[in-house]
Amino acid sequence: MEISWDSLNTAIRSCTQCGLARGITNKVPGQGNPHARLMLIGEGPGAQEDAQGLAFVGAAGQLLTRMLGAISLTREEVYITNTVKCRPPNNRAPSPEETAACLPFLRAQTALIRPQVILVLGASALKVVLGPDKRITSSRGQWTLSKGVWILPTYHPAALLRDPARKREAWADLCLLRDKLAELPEKV
Ligand code: SF4
Repeated sequence: MEISWDSLNTAIRSCTQCGLARGITNKVPGQGNPHARLMLIGEGPGAQEDAQGLAFVGAAGQLLTRMLGAISLTREEVYITNTVKCRPPNNRAPSPEETAACLPFLRAQTALIRPQVILVLGASALKVVLGPDKRITSSRGQWTLSKGVWILPTYHPAALLRDPARKREAWADLCLLRDKLAELPEKV
């Protein structure tokens, strides 16, 4: 039986599969268009996201909104989530065990959305989506076609806030993304 969004979000909200569930304020399942052509996957919720229960609403999220706007996309058109749905303490990267525990939720979201394109944001999400040996510096801007879905890694917007010199490469990645979406047929 195919899982529904309601049952998936209920399962996420009641999940205690890993230690990240302890001490959070809110689960952050993700949000956006459930039929989006484009899905974005980041690392994990931060303080603002934990407080509001929404993905990418802090400073990095605001930058992400501007990045999408630069290629004429709105947040409402895309679906945005993270590899883990609970905030890691002190904004540390989630461990491989934690991302593995949460992976079934990410897979279920992907199956429900059926995106044409996935934009992978940052090193941590890259390792979850394309493999633990991948490095963001060499993988960014490179397309992978997996099971009919085009996957493009780029820098996490938080990394761009820390190191604005990377924005030039991130813009090149956004142009690749824009061109791929223009080239693919509309989703049926
Ligand atoms: Fe469950 Fe994911 Fe939260 Fe871990 S991070 S408790 S697997 S929802």
